[in-house]
Amino acid sequence: MARKAEVVHEEEEPVQEFDETEDMLVDYDETAAAVEDETKEEEAAPVKGNYAGVHAAGFSDFFLKTELLDAIADCGFEHPSEVQQECLPNAMLGVDILCQAKSGMGKTAVFTLATLQNLPEYDGNVSVLVIAHTRELAYQIASEYNRFTKYLTNAHCVVVFGGVDRGRQVQLLATKRPNILVATPGRLRNLMDDGSVDLSHVKHLIVDECDSVLGDSMRADLTSIFVNTPRAKQVMMFTATLSEEMRTLAKQYLVSPQLVLVNDESRLTLHGLQQYYIGISEENRAQRLVAILEGLDYNQVVIFVARKRSADQLSALLKEHRFDTVAVSSIKTQEERLMTYQDVKTFRARIVISTDVFGRGVDFERVNIVVNYDMPRDADTYLHRAGRAGRFGTKGLAISMVTTEEDKAVLAKVQERFEVKVEPMPEVINRNDYLA
Ligand code: ADP
Repeated sequence: MARKAEVVHEEEEPVQEFDETEDMLVDYDETAAAVEDETKEEEAAPVKGNYAGVHAAGFSDFFLKTELLDAIADCGFEHPSEVQQECLPNAMLGVDILCQAKSGMGKTAVFTLATLQNLPEYDGNVSVLVIAHTRELAYQIASEYNRFTKYLTNAHCVVVFGGVDRGRQVQLLATKRPNILVATPGRLRNLMDDGSVDLSHVKHLIVDECDSVLGDSMRADLTSIFVNTPRAKQVMMFTATLSEEMRTLAKQYLVSPQLVLVNDESRLTLHGLQQYYIGISEENRAQRLVAILEGLDYNQVVIFVARKRSADQLSALLKEHRFDTVAVSSIKTQEERLMTYQDVKTFRARIVISTDVFGRGVDFERVNIVVNYDMPRDADTYLHRAGRAGRFGTKGLAISMVTTEEDKAVLAKVQERFEVKVEPMPEVINRNDYLA
């Protein structure tokens, strides 16, 4: 039986400046032979409100190990999703991949299954390294490895990220000797720099939510980690949003990659998701939110706010109205953040008020309503937040409270870029439209 992933924590890392190690990245030649597929929209009629675009093929068609097929069956996965169908073969062959695909369509399983399929006999060296942009996402990815390694004996996964005791983390790495390491960039760089972790045996490097990791605050850490891994390795990067600038940056880390890119951004729209807005003054929002929660049927709700303190304040206000709520933001300790993550993940908490800590990457299967209590600052953030509902093609509702001119501008941008009509919220919404 594979050992379970161990969680270790750290203090917040200082942001590092980008340095000359960037020169050691691949000078990507745009004309280099790369397989470029634009993700094709699944045109087949959706089955019973399922908008995932699954394939008729089964996971057994990929010739995965029996142990993995058994674990996949235990997870209840019947058919691979479109992105899995498209990327798994090359991922398993060791090809570098840059993959952009809609939220909630199973990108995680692409790299977890591919790396587990190729995992060598356990030798105590880090062979698979996964970088994620937030601690919660790192934790979630390690949990996914645990799900899929249920019947494997050679997998030892450890997850490290910031927020709590660092000494424990060093100790854990020394005693557990993981061959799969999931980490946030700042902490990993720190551990690497002081020799607590050796990355010289890495064979597969995965960057999840890559456009976020390639952003200004984490790119230097990523680059430093990258150049401390062997030159000959597979690199896979995943995201739902990838600007031209980020595509170019990402390609510097890849050699002859399979490119699965979405050039037509309307293809990022989740078709199971109903999207509405409410034009409202700031003072009236709380009352309207209460009315929404009283009037709609929800499995789970994520309510997004802009400021850390607002999460707690709004949570307290909803509690006064007898709603059972939890709040998360970076103001909380890492233990509290993780506890809240787990409460939401396991359905113990049904209404969570969050800053963008839960804005992308995290997978809460039963969320069917997302509310932008505060509008996000840009269209990409909107797309990620809305994608917390409607996971894997399920139905959902995204409601945005539009208060300022800036909010209106973001909403206009969302509609223009993703070619989606966000209508004013009607008096009555048919529950079958947003509830499975
Ligand atoms: P993404 O990374 O694309 O946003 P995730 O990897 O988080 O999406 O997957 C979203 C959800 O879909 C998860 O709950 C995951 O367990 C589920 N899932 C992934 N692949 C399948 C599949 N083939 N069949 C059913 N559920 C799946």
